Amino acid sequence: MHVLHVVGARPNFIKAAPVLAALGHDAGVCQTLIHTGQHYDANMSDVFFQQLGMPVPDVNLEVGACSHAQQTAQIIARFEPVVRERAPDLVLVYGDVNSTMAAALVCSKLKVRVGHVEAGLRSRDRSMPEEINRLIADQLSDLLFTPSADGDENLCSEGIAAHRIHRVGNVMIDTLVRLLPVCEAHKPAGLPDRYALVTLHRPSNVDDPVWLEALLRALTILAKEIQIVFPIHPRTRRRIAQLGFNVADGIQLLDPAPYLTFLALQKDATVVITDSGGVQEETTFLGVPCLTLRENTERPITVTLGTNLIIGRDVTRMQQEVHRILGGETKSGSPIPLWDGIAAERIAKVVLFAL
Ligand code: UDP
Repeated sequence: MHVLHVVGARPNFIKAAPVLAALGHDAGVCQTLIHTGQHYDANMSDVFFQQLGMPVPDVNLEVGACSHAQQTAQIIARFEPVVRERAPDLVLVYGDVNSTMAAALVCSKLKVRVGHVEAGLRSRDRSMPEEINRLIADQLSDLLFTPSADGDENLCSEGIAAHRIHRVGNVMIDTLVRLLPVCEAHKPAGLPDRYALVTLHRPSNVDDPVWLEALLRALTILAKEIQIVFPIHPRTRRRIAQLGFNVADGIQLLDPAPYLTFLALQKDATVVITDSGGVQEETTFLGVPCLTLRENTERPITVTLGTNLIIGRDVTRMQQEVHRILGGETKSGSPIPLWDGIAAERIAKVVLFAL
């Protein structure tokens, strides 16, 4: 049996690693790994393959950075011949990036079965490119692997047959559980006991100059009370440079952190301020307070059961919530069902049964 995995961006690598490992336990499964090249910087791609112990991709489509339409079109054009030539029995796609949607589209036209890992998440905000990718990938997938019950409910309400939906838990947490015990050695030296960890890359935060400037100003004020560590996404760095904004000295800017460094930073953070999807989940698992700088989330369980607060585009609220946390008032969370480190084993079982 031949399973072909498609990855393209940082969060995909973290999700695919445990699935590759789990399917690798079965001698009857042959696996191919395709990297679309959506993320190509060494610190957004290569270092993840190394730290996650992933095989070198069999093919790199090298699409690089371009507009959404161009990137999607290039993935489609370059991936189709790979699927024709390699003739997999199943293609697994991950998360919500352009590679996820483009690969699902190619496979559905070629009548190759598709499995979507992290299916069913919905922000109900179609201004987010990721929401469009999720909707399309889910409609086109034969096997839909959801991380939580809300995913199943969303898919059922969109008319997806229940027998295609498999609630398996969260593969991103599989990687976290495996690597948490070894991450400490990768923590940057010299950090104080209390610090805020910041990540920002969504268009809603970095594209609008007025908002981005207000956000940087608010972080500068916060930096007077708590050290701010900000591993900066290449997109955000480019945007700040284009707009000619200065980042205050009190904000410690780092290159995008390798997975183990970022995990070590998250586990000991006093608070995480983010617009990332995956970071909302990881902080919930780690029990670390998370303030999400977005109007909505496709991961509502991190709010209802976890440590996440959706604070919108509101710098005053951000400052108030940080003060509360510094004063010891933190939102306590509880464990999320099936976020237990063995979601990928459940996926492997379903795949082996389905093929
Ligand atoms: N991450 C990382 N280094 C960083 C920032 C994030 O390794 O500097 C990891 C993080 O732990 C999580 C994933 O990247 O596993 C989240 O990816 P990202 O925020 O890029 O995408 P999203 O989850 O928003 O789709």
